[in-house]
Amino acid sequence: MDNINEKIKTLYKILENHKDENTEVFKAAAEVMEILSKEISELKRAIDSIKETVNFLNDDVSELQDQLFEEVSIEDLEDISDNYDEIECKNCGKKLYLEMSAIKNNDVIKCPDCGANLLEK
Ligand SMILES: [Zn+2]
Repeated sequence: MDNINEKIKTLYKILENHKDENTEVFKAAAEVMEILSKEISELKRAIDSIKETVNFLNDDVSELQDQLFEEVSIEDLEDISDNYDEIECKNCGKKLYLEMSAIKNNDVIKCPDCGANLLEK
């Protein structure tokens, strides 16, 4: 991108030297080059801002990945499935995962859907 802007400048200077030989060509070419330069600058700015956004997104994704892999290991996942039990509400059939300790330590855990006691045998 910098390269093309440099080349446009160089071309402009060359044409400027021959300006008096053919003013019509010089005017037309100068106009096109000015537009091109502006367009290129705008494109460059747009690309920079897209790059920045992509970098931010990448950082966010890496951070999320780090958090996921840091905080939940395979052992953790096994622990979670060991420590939870699937309970089906006998009244409405809703399935819930409850912590084993909560099942052991409580006589009543109400179904969030119908309010029936999930622990009632
Ligand atoms: Zn229920």
